[in-house]
Amino acid sequence: MHSISNHIAEVDARISRAAARCGRDRRAVRLVAVSKAQNSDAVREAANAGLVDFGENYLVEALAKIADLCDRSLCWHFIGAVQSNKTRDIARHFQWVQTIDRLKVAERLSAQRPGDAGPLDVLIQVNIDAEPQKAGIDPAALAEFAAPLLKLPRLRLRGLMAIPRPEREPERQRLAFRRMRALFEDGKPPAAEHWDTLSMGMTQDFESAIEEGATMIRVGTALFGAREPRPHD
Ligand SMILES: *Cc1c(COP(=O)(O)O)cnc(C)c1O
Repeated sequence: MHSISNHIAEVDARISRAAARCGRDRRAVRLVAVSKAQNSDAVREAANAGLVDFGENYLVEALAKIADLCDRSLCWHFIGAVQSNKTRDIARHFQWVQTIDRLKVAERLSAQRPGDAGPLDVLIQVNIDAEPQKAGIDPAALAEFAAPLLKLPRLRLRGLMAIPRPEREPERQRLAFRRMRALFEDGKPPAAEHWDTLSMGMTQDFESAIEEGATMIRVGTALFGAREPRPHD
C-alpha cells in the first residue's frame, strides 16, 4: 500500500471537484504539500507521486530534508515565522517565503539572496481576523507595507497569504476567505507586476478556500496523516 500516493490522489480529486463547482480550472490551484514533521522518505514518496511544492515551518528540520532531496528538483516554501537570524539560510535554500510581515526581514532576505539564484518569491502574510497572537499585517496597512517591499531588488512580490481563524461554521470560515480575495483583487499594489498568488486553505478548509478564490493551498494532514504535536506548533 502506498498510502501517501493514495492520499495525494484523493486530495487531487477533491481539488478538481472544488474547482469544477465554481467553474475554475484545476490548474489554477497550486498544491503545496506541508511536510513539517514528516521525514525525508515521506517527502520522497510524495515527490515520486508527482508533487513538486513542499512547505516547511522550521528551518533546521527543513534544511536536513532539502539536503536529503537535493537530487530532485523540488520547490521549497518557507511558511513558518521568520526570525531575523535565520534569513541567510532561508534566502539561500528556499524558493518562496509566504510569511512576510516585517520590512526588516524582507530587506535581509533580499540582501542575502544569492546572486546565482533567481529572485525570491514572497507573499505578504495578512492577519485577516485581527487575532492578537497571530502573525501578519493589518489588511488596512497593505499598500503602505507593500510599497518599500516592491523596491527590494531580489524579492518578487507574488501576492498574499493568510491563516484565518478556524470557525466551526463553514459559512463563517468562507467570509474570511472572501475578505482575503477582495483584498487580493482590490489591494493589488500598482507596482506589483507578478501579483498572481492567493495562498489560503489547509486540510480542514481547502475546498471552500478554492471556491472563494485561492490560487495556492497548503495541505499537510490530508496528504501525510496526523503529525506528532510539537511544543511550538
Ligand atoms: C501546518 C500548516 C499548514 C497545513 O496544515 P494541515 O492542517 O495539516 O493541512 C498550512 N499552513 C501553515 C502555515 C501551517 O503551519
